[in-house]
Amino acid sequence: MSKKPEHVIILGAGPAGLATGHEISTKGGKVTVLEKNNFVGGLCRTLEEDGYKFDLGGHRWFSKNEDLNNWFRHLMAGEIVMVNRISRIYYDRKYFFYPIKFSDIFKNTGPLTILHAGLGFLWAAIQQSVSDKPIITMKQAYVSQFGNKLYDMFFRRYSEKVWGRPCEELSADWVSQRSKGLSIWTTVRDALVGSNNKVTSLIDEFMYPRDGYMRIPERLAEDIRSSGSDVLLGSAVRSIKYHGPDDFEVFFNSNGQERSIRGNAVVSTIPLGYLAKILKPECTEEVSLAADSLEFRDLITVNVKLSKKQVSPDTWLYIQDSDILFGRLHEPKNWSPAMVPDGDHTSLVLECFCTFHDEIWQMSDEEIANRCVRDLVDKLKFFEESDYLGANVVRTRFAYPVYDLDYAAK
Ligand SMILES: Cc1cc2nc3c(=O)[nH]c(=O)nc-3n(C[C@H](O)[C@H](O)[C@H](O)COP(=O)(O)OP(=O)(O)OC[C@H]3O[C@@H](n4cnc5c(N)ncnc54)[C@H](O)[C@@H]3O)c2cc1C
Repeated sequence: MSKKPEHVIILGAGPAGLATGHEISTKGGKVTVLEKNNFVGGLCRTLEEDGYKFDLGGHRWFSKNEDLNNWFRHLMAGEIVMVNRISRIYYDRKYFFYPIKFSDIFKNTGPLTILHAGLGFLWAAIQQSVSDKPIITMKQAYVSQFGNKLYDMFFRRYSEKVWGRPCEELSADWVSQRSKGLSIWTTVRDALVGSNNKVTSLIDEFMYPRDGYMRIPERLAEDIRSSGSDVLLGSAVRSIKYHGPDDFEVFFNSNGQERSIRGNAVVSTIPLGYLAKILKPECTEEVSLAADSLEFRDLITVNVKLSKKQVSPDTWLYIQDSDILFGRLHEPKNWSPAMVPDGDHTSLVLECFCTFHDEIWQMSDEEIANRCVRDLVDKLKFFEESDYLGANVVRTRFAYPVYDLDYAAK
């Protein structure tokens, strides 16, 4: 762009689109945000039924950038609660704290496992100090950090639930962006003496909007509108035409009507695969093929409503055992008391990772809810059947981009 844009059209009202729109509009620029849904937030969505609120999967705010944290505090003033992070892993019917504590391993496993895990860990530490072999796959990333046995116990099965394929076929990048700064030595120190809070995935406390994560996009949209710009809901983008330098036209369907607007710049946050198909002039075949080959995992969220005060102390519980349908759960009340109707009730939010049309996706909502409740009652023994008040099942396409081995090249 040769000059400061006068009107920016933003595609998608998820956090990325709205944060962009917020930055421009609150500094005096004009934006139009086009969102196909009738609500803002994208994946950062919070639903509510009977006074039970739930995110599509618990979202936490965490950044090591203090400017960003201050921006967040300002945006969400009066709505922030601090959440103590307690994460555990459920493995072989037993609970282990995450970050891993050696005391748990001693308490919950036999001498052979301890020996195996200890030797694997030591070997990984030696390898990490002497080897400069590149770490390419997710398995290599975990093994280099924790050793073979701990990887097998605490990471392999959960990762395979999330991604639906072996860790050998996935990129190490996902592990490194989730555990920036985490080396085997910080793992040892944290396992022995506790975290110093500096590593991305191990923080002990985080900020959360009292009424659910969707309050963040809602607040952004409020500010954009009060700055005189627009957030248009029910507006599905169909194509983008380039007329010349600083001159774009975006065609969209607004509640059944074909419309278009013109702007000096377009910022897209809609799925890349779709964007590549709607550009005019069209993009090259190579780009189009690359866009088609991007893969995604889908998600089924189950919100289980309970007549019980509390089920677990956890912020997150990661379920390794493959006979349990869901891979992760959280109890929203542990994040914010405002997420449940009153102190006598609680809920559990379960994440079932799947791919459109696989056997999990093909189950009916009722089958999924029943299966999850059976797992919670019979296997995890979290509550009695009589505590169960009902469940909501929400299906989300394109929840996670798959970091396969050639995702970056695509
Ligand atoms: C279960 C789960 C847990 C997560 N936990 C965390 C967490 O703890 N912390 C964290 O920071 N992140 C977390 N994330 C990731 C976070 O949700 C995403 O990174 C974030 O939502 C991405 O924002 P976005 O705006 O890029 O995309 P999206 O949220 O996907 O928004 C894109 C928007 O574009 C709209 N759109 C699509 N096509 C069109 C079209 N043709 N026309 C108009 N609009 C269109 C969509 O409807 C959507 O509103 C989690 C994600 C999941 C699934």
